[in-house]
Amino acid sequence: MSCDYIELAIKGVQGLRPYVPGKPVEELQRELGLEHVVKLASNENPLGSSAQVVKAIQDELSELTRYPDGNGFILKKALSEKHAIGAECITLGNGSNEILELIARAYLDTESEVIFSEHSFAVYPLVTQAVGAKAVVTPAINWGHDLQAMAQAVTEKTRLIFVANPNNPTGTWVTENELTAFLEQIPERVIVVLDEAYFDYVGEAEYPNGEKLLNRFANLVVTRTFSKAYGMAALRAGYSLSNSVIADVLNRVRQPFNMNHLAMVGAVAALQDTLFIEQSKMVNDSGMEQYIQGFKQLGLGYIPSVGNFICVDLQRDAGPVYENLLQQGVIVRPVANYGMPQHLRITIGTEAENKHCLDALAKALGA
Ligand SMILES: *Cc1c(COP(=O)(O)O)cnc(C)c1O
Repeated sequence: MSCDYIELAIKGVQGLRPYVPGKPVEELQRELGLEHVVKLASNENPLGSSAQVVKAIQDELSELTRYPDGNGFILKKALSEKHAIGAECITLGNGSNEILELIARAYLDTESEVIFSEHSFAVYPLVTQAVGAKAVVTPAINWGHDLQAMAQAVTEKTRLIFVANPNNPTGTWVTENELTAFLEQIPERVIVVLDEAYFDYVGEAEYPNGEKLLNRFANLVVTRTFSKAYGMAALRAGYSLSNSVIADVLNRVRQPFNMNHLAMVGAVAALQDTLFIEQSKMVNDSGMEQYIQGFKQLGLGYIPSVGNFICVDLQRDAGPVYENLLQQGVIVRPVANYGMPQHLRITIGTEAENKHCLDALAKALGA
């Protein structure tokens, strides 16, 4: 090759490092010849997905020939009822990850600045850099968003702010009062993305529901996903709620058939099974308690989390502990790439999975 195909890529892409996902179960099984592997690395629902979702998708398997409905009528209708919002305010995405990307593509250019917090979701810097915009990273406060610092970081060039509530990987959250006080300071020309990927797990009374703030703040975009509590990560289904003009703009840059038919049908069924979400939350609440007790017994600190995951503080380089856990068939998530080299993020699993993980952790630390 006489040509440097990296040099030929646009500036932002040249320095991009691809997202590092949790290690797949089959990969570890192949590498170590292990049969029993517990994966607690990608905040997936340990209960799987609702039986009603599986049934609905099975019933549609004869429909693979046709293109999906590019307008997503059935899902937008169901979401419109759930959120009491017009269908014209809803944007469907191939995972909410795609929505984040659509917003970046539609609203950023190489002159733009994007604000997000230290220790926040890895996709924010990725979509920012992919379009050549400038990331402005504000320091965290107690591992969470410092909304004051974020508001103060706004300049003439700011186009977009990402707020994950709760935040991944830290599980920290902001209250309704904190959030509205923040939104009141942000000029309307700056779009604020409120990423509520873990909304259904949070039970705190002061936890805001972004949907209720949309009427007050025209620049607000709320994103949700079917990947986490709904247990449908494989299908790639997410969406945003916004004012209808922003939805119109996102609609212009998306692929015509960006959400597939099975994802749409599954998501409609998932919205009907509210019991599944309640059960998932209960399992998560007790699993969270199990980890907190387990960490205490091991003398380990942790970051209090309202998500379906928790970051444990090992007070040493977490890399070797992560490797040791892999050897024992337990996959968790290293978070050094989030500026947290001494933490591991553990997804809350079933009681048995959590016990397995805690036992392995005890061994790893004794080793
Ligand atoms: C998992 C996650 C998402 C996106 O998930 P999708 O599977 O793309 O819907 C978005 N934001 C945060 C903070 C997440 O943790």
